[in-house]
Amino acid sequence: MTGIMQGKRGLIMGVANNHSIAWGISKALAAQGAELAFTYQGDALGKRVKPLAAEVGSDFVLPCDVEDVASVDTVVDAIGERWGKLDFIVHAIGFSDKNELKGLYADTTRENFSRTMVISCFSFTEIAKRCAPLMEDGGAMLTLTYNGSTRVIPNYNVMGVAKAALEASVRYLAADYGPRGIRVNAISAGPIRTLAGAGISDARAILSWNQRNAPLRKTVTIDQVGSSALYLLSDLSAGVTGEIHFVDAGYNVTSMPTLETLRK
Ligand code: NAD
Repeated sequence: MTGIMQGKRGLIMGVANNHSIAWGISKALAAQGAELAFTYQGDALGKRVKPLAAEVGSDFVLPCDVEDVASVDTVVDAIGERWGKLDFIVHAIGFSDKNELKGLYADTTRENFSRTMVISCFSFTEIAKRCAPLMEDGGAMLTLTYNGSTRVIPNYNVMGVAKAALEASVRYLAADYGPRGIRVNAISAGPIRTLAGAGISDARAILSWNQRNAPLRKTVTIDQVGSSALYLLSDLSAGVTGEIHFVDAGYNVTSMPTLETLRK
């Protein structure tokens, strides 16, 4: 199967480096013929993102900090000017103060709660609203979430609350934009070693627990998330919207550790 994204153009937000989930998704999309635009947060990351974009044939790389709504507007205007339309967006953005990604959720501060919600949740809605008018022929929107939205994962704390709101946003946006032929979905990825992932205390132990106790006895890779994203962003999933799709080696279906782990 080749070229299923031929003729499609999309915006990728959230590549920080070649370990980013958004990069795994970008590679899968580009391999199938998609034309990509990228955003980066700040000059330091720009230096990493520009050569990665070039690897997949893109010179369309723009700065964007979702805390600054003017920078989001600038990106959407630039896409309108250069392409006139958009077929898909990938929102792979998350942030919370790492001092609050440990200890008790109850200790979350008001300031970090708001900031986490704006960056990790509301930005998806804000971007969706701005990009939808560019999707006159329909389109697909995708965000990234984690199982800490519905289950308590140690240290995930306020990010879990933000991901719960993000998943609810996926459902509401799917209902808002469904009549225009725009599909809105999320991938709930298992833990992966990335810059954002490393901000969570005990990330290594959580990763190893998933590896030992997921039905597939492994953690997932950015390439595996990428190929599932390809499905959700392509016409292969034309009948799917409002969905939270797990790509986590099956960990979410378990209710107990494996017997091997229990008997240790
Ligand atoms: P990453 O660090 O590679 O990517 C996170 C991205 O968010 C970075 O590119 C960063 O620049 C961007 N970002 C943060 N604040 C921003 C802001 N104010 N404006 C614009 N961009 C901003 O890590 P990742 O693990 O690839 O994270 C991508 C998404 O996947 C996040 O939503 C994360 O919560 C989610 N996710 C990660 C895992 C995991 O274990 N790594 C699991 C499930 C879901």
